[in-house]
Amino acid sequence: MQRDSPTRFETQTVAAGEDPSEQAHGDVVSPIHLASTFVHERPDEAGEYTYARTATPTRTTLEKRLATLEGGEHALALSAGMGAVGTALLSVLNPGDHVVAFNYLYGGTRKLLDDVYGPRFGVDVDYVDATSTEAVRDAVTDETALVYVESPTNPLMKLCDLEAIASVADEADATFCVDNTFASPALQRPLEFGADMVLHSTTKYINGHSDTLGGAIVTDDAELADAAIHARKYATGAVPSPFDAYLALRGVKTLAVRMERHCENAAAIAEFLADHSAVESVNYPGLESHPQHELAAEQMADFGGMLSFEIDGGKHEAAEFLAGLDHVNLAVSLGGVESLIAHTPTMTHRYLDQKTRDRMGITESLIRLSVGIEHVDDLIADLDRGLAKIE
Ligand SMILES: *Cc1c(COP(=O)(O)O)cnc(C)c1O
Repeated sequence: MQRDSPTRFETQTVAAGEDPSEQAHGDVVSPIHLASTFVHERPDEAGEYTYARTATPTRTTLEKRLATLEGGEHALALSAGMGAVGTALLSVLNPGDHVVAFNYLYGGTRKLLDDVYGPRFGVDVDYVDATSTEAVRDAVTDETALVYVESPTNPLMKLCDLEAIASVADEADATFCVDNTFASPALQRPLEFGADMVLHSTTKYINGHSDTLGGAIVTDDAELADAAIHARKYATGAVPSPFDAYLALRGVKTLAVRMERHCENAAAIAEFLADHSAVESVNYPGLESHPQHELAAEQMADFGGMLSFEIDGGKHEAAEFLAGLDHVNLAVSLGGVESLIAHTPTMTHRYLDQKTRDRMGITESLIRLSVGIEHVDDLIADLDRGLAKIE
């Protein structure tokens, strides 16, 4: 007998799309189907699967789960977050289109817009401070095809009002696309606020174990989904391998419990840092000092596992602090069970020139922390050890 679809998020993370009664041997977890091609009944009669770039059973299972978790009708799994971004842009944009984007976008997305879509396809991008919905409204024109945001952003944890911006995009007949990587669907489901398309780097919280790359697109709009499927199949080919799809499927089973601990630890660490004399400022939406704390409380189920902070001093002090850490890993990326820390001007944001970084507020002492699920006392002790080096 087929199972009913689970309705609660925690159960969906474990079970959505994966039904043992559909498996030949009743497997509790879906098997990894490695075949690149599948036999036809007759030349003109293919089965459910024909060729693995188009679809594989393992990937389809992951897609069903991701669609369920974001509350959308259609999901595409991709080879990396950038595969999702590239496929999404290709499915929406035409030469000469206008784009309004949050001025704090993931670096790869910004590079794709600035280095490829701008010069090669005449796409005109206005980067605006989307913390102000008015700024978005002012930038939107009749030519605007796409409004593209992230919330919270990297690395300063700025938010934008998803519901308000959705209505601005809707009035302009523009596609509203939200990269939901930093929040994950456990904390925020942009389709519920009126977004047309949600993107993920599943490399981060969805997989959660820093051991595979992946991306996702989720939408309720059948036309957008078809365009993205077409772009993935015939232009980007950015499909995940069955093994990568399996890892994401396995990783996401614990998303709800992981996020609880990520948030709990991050809140405690944000408080600790805010009280520390060697720390100048802390960016965490859960702190009352965060300028958008109220919006965060309304829009997100909790405040997330990402934060950034400025230590007292400059590049030298930042290096001393980082060298003083014993447990927290110095590495880019985020969303894994292990804590990862990065010096933003020389690591995650080194592709920007100094002037742009200064304008954005990415100072020489800005540190980004992806708070893991270790014991919070161990994390705080480690950060304290590092900060002692600069006091
Ligand atoms: C990492 C990241 C991406 C790109 O994802 P990859 O899996 O590295 O290709 C896109 N958007 C955001 C917000 C990210 O953090």
